[in-house]
Amino acid sequence: MYRISIDRSLCNGYGVCEAVAPDVFALGDDGLAVLRTGVSEDDAVKEACDSCPMGAISIARVEAA
Ligand code: SF4
Repeated sequence: MYRISIDRSLCNGYGVCEAVAPDVFALGDDGLAVLRTGVSEDDAVKEACDSCPMGAISIARVEAA
């Protein structure tokens, strides 16, 4: 399980995260990334984190409830 956060001050709205993990990330009305959920078991979250060109996504492993 991953806990996910976005530093929107770094986000440039490229949308890589949404393309990689659309269940977790979306682009908001302001064109910057927003979270659909704060936690996910989907390993695509890690790929999205690694793929973000701005380093705006942070993830941390947490114990599944
Ligand atoms: S990949 Fe990074 S810079 Fe691009 S929209 Fe997502 S959080 Fe923003």
